[in-house]
Amino acid sequence: MRRYNPPFNGNRYVLNKATGEIHDLDNETSLCQINEMNPDHVSNCVSYEDAKFRAAFFSPHGGNGCYYCLRSKDNG
Ligand SMILES: [Zn+2]
Repeated sequence: MRRYNPPFNGNRYVLNKATGEIHDLDNETSLCQINEMNPDHVSNCVSYEDAKFRAAFFSPHGGNGCYYCLRSKDNG
C-alpha cells in the first residue's frame, strides 16, 4: 500500500537506507514491517533502479530486493 504521509511521497518503492532492503509497496506484505521502519531510514523512490542507485550510496552492501514483496530482486 502506497503512503502519502512523510517520509513517504506516494512512490512505489521504499529503500531502507540502513539495510539496503528495497520494498515494492504495490506488493507489500505485513512481514515487510514498513510501518516499523525508522523514518530516518526511509527513502521513497519512483523506480527500482532509482532505489538501487541510492542504495549504492547509503548502504554498505548496496541494494537488495525484499524477500516478501520483491523476491525477483532478492539476492539473499
Ligand atoms: Zn517488502
